[in-house]
Amino acid sequence: MVLSDLCARLIRDVPDYPEPGVVFKDITPLLVNGPAFAAVIKHLADIARAAGGIDLVAGMEARGFIIGAPVATELGIGFVPVRKAGKLPGVTMEASYDLEYGSATVELLPDTIAPGSRVLIVDDVLATGGTAAATASLIEQAGGIVVGLAFLLELTFLPGRSRLAGRPVDVILSVD
Ligand code: IMP
Repeated sequence: MVLSDLCARLIRDVPDYPEPGVVFKDITPLLVNGPAFAAVIKHLADIARAAGGIDLVAGMEARGFIIGAPVATELGIGFVPVRKAGKLPGVTMEASYDLEYGSATVELLPDTIAPGSRVLIVDDVLATGGTAAATASLIEQAGGIVVGLAFLLELTFLPGRSRLAGRPVDVILSVD
């Protein structure tokens, strides 16, 4: 079966979560399916191989950890955790972005990225693009080069991709 079709079958719609009117895309059925999860990781690693010369994978808390870390180990390279505010020790770099109500902040330990490192950002879902855009800007502020961003799922009815300023974006499955 084509990987995008397999993912479509294994991603569950949860209506009215986390708030009324929102349909949450739950990737848990995919994660508990060993062959499907492995195929997703292999596909994302192949994207990194095609981009060439990736030094690090960066993933955002929390599902970006679940997907990004195995991609890094598949490639034999390091993984950089990008965390929600207040979770990392010591001096951090931070970037904030707007939510519908309020804002959110992501943080990075500056010494995790050597200047000039080529970084692939990996997360489960590209929705409004706020998390991914803030992460890309943090990595660039730290001196890294964002070679691209790879997602399991893109919600194309939201303007996520347009917030990524032309950086290369790969997705396994698009939902409109
Ligand atoms: P964005 O910042 O609006 O693009 O949201 C992306 C972030 O929120 C990612 O880190 C996702 O894990 C999470 N997210 C947003 N919508 C969903 C969803 O429907 N399912 C799972 N995660 C989501």
